[in-house]
Amino acid sequence: MSSLDWSSIRIPKELKESYEKVRMLLVRAIMSGKFEVGNKVAEILNPTKCPICGSSLKTVRKLSNSVEIAKCEKCGYSQPRLTTLSRENMTIELGLMLAKLGLGILAGLGLAALVNSLSDVLKDSDDAYEDSGKIIEGKVEEYEG
Ligand SMILES: [Zn+2]
Repeated sequence: MSSLDWSSIRIPKELKESYEKVRMLLVRAIMSGKFEVGNKVAEILNPTKCPICGSSLKTVRKLSNSVEIAKCEKCGYSQPRLTTLSRENMTIELGLMLAKLGLGILAGLGLAALVNSLSDVLKDSDDAYEDSGKIIEGKVEEYEG
């Protein structure tokens, strides 16, 4: 894999420290075996369909034996996908994976969780916020809904 296949993002150092701490807490909690990872979490981390439009996701790149980038062919949404995360033996596998993932992938999974929690809203927002691209690019100073 070429370095051209990657892009960097800047993470404030406070967040980087927090991500590492949260990772440690998650791995510790998961490996303790005190809770089971449910289907909702499995669908976020190893989705079978696009959380925005519901279409199927296609693998566009394999980052390792257990992590790939999945992309929706219909709307273009992409996210990391933990492919070896089976529904049956998820707990131990998830703990081991979270211990090794890069911060960019961890942050991507956090965004995937946010998208999943907002999926009902996102499905219906195509027309409602047609200026959203301009808002993100800073071309609209004040948004009047
Ligand atoms: Zn989609």
